[in-house]
Amino acid sequence: MTDSRTGRCQCKAVDYEFTGLPRTVHACHCSECQKRSGSAFGLTMVVGKDSFVLNGKLTTYVRVSDSGQRVTAYFCPMCGSPIYGELERFPDIVAIRPGTLDDTSWFKPERHIWTSSAQNWFEFPEGCEGLPKGRW
Ligand SMILES: [Zn+2]
Ligand SMILES: [Zn+2]
Repeated sequence: MTDSRTGRCQCKAVDYEFTGLPRTVHACHCSECQKRSGSAFGLTMVVGKDSFVLNGKLTTYVRVSDSGQRVTAYFCPMCGSPIYGELERFPDIVAIRPGTLDDTSWFKPERHIWTSSAQNWFEFPEGCEGLPKGRW
């Protein structure tokens, strides 16, 4: 039994694999994550780039964050599924979008960030760590 985990986009044109456990998993309620996910919040699973293998071609979208760093989003050009993001300041990690994992049963966000812009119907899990803004 290996500790590798796999995921893929909605149309299955792109898949990936990584080994080991993620360094962190968080839910981000900032307005950018709401836009890019089309949902109430974005999930981010931070994994070392050296353990991440991608098969297939992705399209990129680059934006500049509030703190002035470039954030690159990688998504499937066929179905639009967001697969991962990269942060200019942390070149050795990838921020996988864990909704694309084949098995989503084993992880849970460790903290919620940008809680100040969370949608007002969202109820934070009891005892979860929350930050009103970001931490990158
Ligand atoms: Zn796809
Ligand atoms: Zn965010």
